[in-house]
Amino acid sequence: MSQFALGVGACVLVAGMSAATLAARAWPVPSYGRHREAGLSYRRTLDEAALQALLTGGYVEANDFALCPDEQRVTFHALRTDGSRRCWTCSATTPAGEAS
Ligand SMILES: [Zn+2]
Repeated sequence: MSQFALGVGACVLVAGMSAATLAARAWPVPSYGRHREAGLSYRRTLDEAALQALLTGGYVEANDFALCPDEQRVTFHALRTDGSRRCWTCSATTPAGEAS
């Protein structure tokens, strides 16, 4: 094989790899970001009014430690706006108004 043919082959190989790289970068990739479902913008600080709107709308839940009725010990719970809470450890739900 002549050196000229080898040089042409190398140029064709580099051009092909460059084209494949550009095509891969331009290929559309769907976004699966679950955090974007609420329509939040993470480029600014979340203020109290926005947080309250998210809590009221059920997009986020406050958390605190409380007594789990199933485990009979204090565990981390998601606090719902209706006053009920859900244990993060065993998923037990405690109705609103029960002692913590
Ligand atoms: Zn529990």
